[in-house]
Amino acid sequence: MPENALNLAGFHEDAAENILENRRRFLKLFPGEWALAGCWQMHGVDVRAVKDRDDAKPAEDGTGETIYCDAIVSNAPHVLAGVKTADCVPLLIGDQRTGAFAAVHAGWRGTFAGVVFYALERMGHEYGARPEDVTVAIGPAAAACCYEVGGEVIEGFKERFADADSLLTPTRDGHACIDLLKANRDQLISSGVDPKRIYTAPLCTMCRTDLFFSYRREKKTLGKVGRLMSVVGRTTDDGRPASEDIE
Ligand SMILES: [Zn+2]
Repeated sequence: MPENALNLAGFHEDAAENILENRRRFLKLFPGEWALAGCWQMHGVDVRAVKDRDDAKPAEDGTGETIYCDAIVSNAPHVLAGVKTADCVPLLIGDQRTGAFAAVHAGWRGTFAGVVFYALERMGHEYGARPEDVTVAIGPAAAACCYEVGGEVIEGFKERFADADSLLTPTRDGHACIDLLKANRDQLISSGVDPKRIYTAPLCTMCRTDLFFSYRREKKTLGKVGRLMSVVGRTTDDGRPASEDIE
């Protein structure tokens, strides 16, 4: 249940003061002063670029300006780009050459729409980052063992992904389990990212509700679900990114 764990978002499901207190505790894990940059996630492809710490704000809790997007890019020290998930795929991207970094939220809709392409493109446009230089962490998400989808999603992926058969494992009639982790990895590789620099957490949020929040597992049974937050940032101006991925 969100109230008994470190719930970091999901304002419909938990009291705002709990979430904000959890975020204060979370930010204390990082030495120094950090500003969290988030957004109201829409399962789309819009990307937010954060200029500096003053420009960073959660921007999704109804206090102040709400920014709607699914990826955040920056190159500013002590800004944490953060995305919230509970089964969707969180991707953290860091570029050692330019110091640019990104946090991306990719559920099936975002994956289908290629949100990670938009994030890489924006990193290139804003900071001169090149896909061949970046390192990517793909965080815990609903994996191929559990994430079942229906006909519409299956057909959509078959139309858009040449390797759809490698992403879909048929289950019952009209249904299949989908491997969104592989789909995102494939998209990164097709963008020019070195497969050796893509790290995928071997953990399924739906299998491991002892560790993670799972919208699909917990929403129906418990009525409400917390959110994990994955963040990436850099400490210094020397171009070296620092990343963390914490539930
Ligand atoms: Zn699983």
